[in-house]
Amino acid sequence: MSKFVSKPESKSAISKPTSSAAHKPYKATKPPKKPAPPNVITPAKIAWQTDDAGNQVPVSGEFGDVYFSHADGLAESRHVFLAHNQLPERLANLADKQCFTIAELGFGTGLNFLATWQLWRQLRAKKPHLTSARLHFITTEKYPIPLNDLTQILALWAQRAPELAKLIEQLLANYPPLIAGCHRLNFIDDNITLDIWLGDAGDSLASLDTETAIKRPYIDAWFLDGFAPSCNETLWAESIFTQMQRLSRPSTTAATYSCAGIVKRGLQTHGFEINKVKGFGRKREMLTAVMADNANSLALNDDSNASIYPNLPSHTVVIGAGVAGLLTAWTLANRGMTVTIIDKVAPLAGASGNPRALLAPNMTPIHHVYEHLHSIGYLYSGRLYRYFNQQAELQQTPLILEQTGTLDLLIKTNIGTAQIADYPNQMATTITTAEALRLSGLKAKDLADNLYLPQSGLVNTQALKTLILKHLNISYQQLSVTDIKETADKVMVTGDKESGSNNNQSSITICADNVVICAAYESHQLDKRIVECRTIRGQLSWFTPTAEQVAGLPKLPLKYSGYCAPFIGQSGDAEVNNISDHQPQFLLGASFVDADASIDIRSEENQQNYDKLLEDIPELSNVLPNDTSAWQARAGVRTQTIDYHPLVGRLAQSRRIWTLSAMGAKGYALAPICAEALADMMLGCFAPLSAVTLARLSPNRARLHKA
Ligand code: SAM
Repeated sequence: MSKFVSKPESKSAISKPTSSAAHKPYKATKPPKKPAPPNVITPAKIAWQTDDAGNQVPVSGEFGDVYFSHADGLAESRHVFLAHNQLPERLANLADKQCFTIAELGFGTGLNFLATWQLWRQLRAKKPHLTSARLHFITTEKYPIPLNDLTQILALWAQRAPELAKLIEQLLANYPPLIAGCHRLNFIDDNITLDIWLGDAGDSLASLDTETAIKRPYIDAWFLDGFAPSCNETLWAESIFTQMQRLSRPSTTAATYSCAGIVKRGLQTHGFEINKVKGFGRKREMLTAVMADNANSLALNDDSNASIYPNLPSHTVVIGAGVAGLLTAWTLANRGMTVTIIDKVAPLAGASGNPRALLAPNMTPIHHVYEHLHSIGYLYSGRLYRYFNQQAELQQTPLILEQTGTLDLLIKTNIGTAQIADYPNQMATTITTAEALRLSGLKAKDLADNLYLPQSGLVNTQALKTLILKHLNISYQQLSVTDIKETADKVMVTGDKESGSNNNQSSITICADNVVICAAYESHQLDKRIVECRTIRGQLSWFTPTAEQVAGLPKLPLKYSGYCAPFIGQSGDAEVNNISDHQPQFLLGASFVDADASIDIRSEENQQNYDKLLEDIPELSNVLPNDTSAWQARAGVRTQTIDYHPLVGRLAQSRRIWTLSAMGAKGYALAPICAEALADMMLGCFAPLSAVTLARLSPNRARLHKA
């Protein structure tokens, strides 16, 4: 009997097996001899099988089961998971700014997610009160489908269900490279967040943090969509049900097409009351479940049980308008908060105001990547900046991220070509010497060993700032903060404001629900609970090359013991740096002076940047001007903790004072994902970082304070 059609538990369970030649039983491919180490992703092996009606359907090579039935997979998904979690009614009744969280076991082709997204869109179009509500869809996948297979699979649905076509396009455009860990995809126009946790579901659910948020987050509805227990027990294991209980609260629901004993017992012994209902189509039954009132003592003792979030913060003051503050402001504003962002000087006046920031991660061996903040942050920032690019295109303003690709010459890295080969090419690869020479324009350098990052590029810091400050929920004020006071129900930020041309100052106080201190090394001055950080001065240099020099200089950003990049001046650049529109520029970064917080421009540091480049790529001595005295430069102070991790979270013994700081030289890569985590903590939602990572980032971590 065909494994493919016969399992009564299979979500497809298509009528009877046939013996047609086209319908050979599908054999699961043998597991690879050497299993991948934990935390290294094995992509799904997709096979295509012909169903009873002669349609091609995708089958999992690992489990030998279908992902969905061709005839009615979408209708089945809507029946089992959407209708039987009462999503149409529950989502329609969300309150202003309320977040509803769904967790799914087994992302597979994303069909359940697409069906949910489409329902959410329909409801939002009909019900204006849902404008500020948010849908958070958390899913897990151990064997993610490679992008080219997924594209082929979803093309079927785009054809058969045209209402999904636009959503499919967006999902595919944002589909992450297949590396372990959490990938946050924000579909901002629809207020829907998809967190795809790649790895074993048990590990991923255990990574969800419930402790650091101001209110304990919980799952509202579970989609239990593992393959049938008979072909995959791992998604129906005791450890999964234990996590479900931990992450649920009374009234959390679950739905599954499976009525297997192991499923019923698992749910019942972990606090769910179960109910058999009519299954989809010709299937006799399926299972729904609801967490009983007395089954989750943790949830019962928690204030998140209060009917609907009574105390959602509505106004936040962000102190510091560098990249950390700007991204924090934008993320909170995007969650519906009113944000006042303040700076003692001006937005981007500090270290974040370099004309361009190179978005290129420091790589790590792949088995560490799932908790490697640089990699996670790099991927998330890229997605966010590409979304910002779409906004910029609509507004006909300069792009935020110029996706140039970056070539790393592997002079100062902790990873070699063998380890780069473990990565999906979409994220990191080694290109041939010929290709490296062609892309870079170099002629003599040995480029056999290299790291090419195709999605990397240059962030236009000015353009990013301008776009963020246009957000309707954000207002900027110049203010030099002198005092922050917290009471039970608010926080008061007092500071001196420059007024008039004769440098008069007036003192003003702003009241808010929360304050986030994003003042880099000066954060410590504002609240002594924020540890004092190491200050590392860095000076970036740039010059305007002649047409002849442009022809001989590298064509894309290069990383060596420093980094360099060509770029073209854009409107807005001149607001902060001396750069004219449309003029080619070449930048070289950056000096490194420990324990120095001054920002004067030093000719010897321009020279150091020059020397570093020529030492690593001597052939450029023919091209670079000998005289660096006319070079432009900008000096800033990088802020670093002793363990190199940023500070993200709420301060000890405080309900309302938070920080996001100490990003070192990686603010443009780290701030977006850290701001997401901070917003989630503030609003009682699940963060896109594991509990272990959040503990590592806590401003109150013991390690910092011992030192
Ligand atoms: N929800 C999917 C959709 O809409 O297309 C279909 C899910 S499919 C029936 C089950 C999925 O569970 C497969 O993609 C499989 O790789 C995944 N899976 C199986 N065991 C897993 C585990 N231990 N952890 C995470 N995912 C797992």
